[in-house]
Amino acid sequence: MTPDLGMGDHSSHPGRAPLFRQITFVGLGLINGSIARDVRRLGLAERLVGTARRAETRAEACALGLVDEATPDAAAAVRDADLVVLGVPVGASGDAARAVAPGLRADAIVTDVGSAKGKVIELVAPYLDMRRFVPGHPVAGTEESGPAAAIERLFENRWCILTPQAVTDVSAVEQVAALWRGLGSKVDVMDAAHHDKVLAVTSHLPHLLAFNIVNTADDLEGVLKGEVLKYAAGGFTDFTRIAASDPTMWRDVFLHNKTAVLEIVGRYIEDLMALQRAIRWDEADALFERFKSAQAIRREVVRAGQAYKRVPSTRYQPGRNVRHLSETLG
Ligand code: NAP
Repeated sequence: MTPDLGMGDHSSHPGRAPLFRQITFVGLGLINGSIARDVRRLGLAERLVGTARRAETRAEACALGLVDEATPDAAAAVRDADLVVLGVPVGASGDAARAVAPGLRADAIVTDVGSAKGKVIELVAPYLDMRRFVPGHPVAGTEESGPAAAIERLFENRWCILTPQAVTDVSAVEQVAALWRGLGSKVDVMDAAHHDKVLAVTSHLPHLLAFNIVNTADDLEGVLKGEVLKYAAGGFTDFTRIAASDPTMWRDVFLHNKTAVLEIVGRYIEDLMALQRAIRWDEADALFERFKSAQAIRREVVRAGQAYKRVPSTRYQPGRNVRHLSETLG
């Protein structure tokens, strides 16, 4: 199914009539908090309600003005919502769906922001009317977490991938797409299994490598380990930033996108061994060709607007560069 997502473009008309009367956020961390910030700034909903397990999370979200009110009672939080956004670790999606189900209006739309899609669909299916569930994944984020990490414009010019099923109401998909467009995102629609394969390569594998490289360095002995920190700027720092991402979130991503991740890890190991062999046997041309093709891919990614490009200091643009330097694509 490829619904017409052309309607509801709020990005060029901030402040016009709200898309939703009440949005309820289940989970009040980086992603839901950032959505809430921009929904409020752009007037995309009249009322924002939140629910989270811990009192500190709820108090912080209210104090920051992310939501108008927050309650631990998920069913009560969604009672008047026309849109519910699940923003919890992927593995908690089923429990979150079960908790909101008794309070949902029959016409309420439920969406989510989880980084793996096939498993989320499987986990929520027993509890939700799947005609009204629109699986989603904003391909934007940072290594921070919690309500205080929420920032404005996180989703501007970033992709949001929706993975509706054959049963999903087209009108529900259109309304969720309109929200993302309103937040400045570009929206794509694809099959959940395809999403999980693509993200295994572009996001999950890089995070796995970062976690592993940092731990490998940490296992080094004495002086060598000290020198790693001293000379970290030679590439290692970029990995430490990615590896600082929330361990709960990433544990759940790997456990819930297992098939696609194991497939790409297998291919990665084959390619790594080919490089290892080329180094061992002084295969200069082979190494050069592999690095040259990787360099060309970097240029394509920059051209597609999916990465920052360092600029000379005279042209340094503080807001722009700092923001891009701290981005991850969770
Ligand atoms: P986060 O900042 O850590 O926030 C998670 C929220 O969920 C918190 O409000 C937390 O509050 C609640 N929570 C944690 N564990 C829970 C559990 N077991 N059951 C119910 N609630 C729980 O996380 P996030 O970065 O916003 O990520 C949320 C979702 O977005 C994840 O599915 C992630 O895969 C996806 N995502 C993340 C990124 C990224 O870069 N971070 C990017 C795109 C998509 P309490 O502990 O008080 O309940």
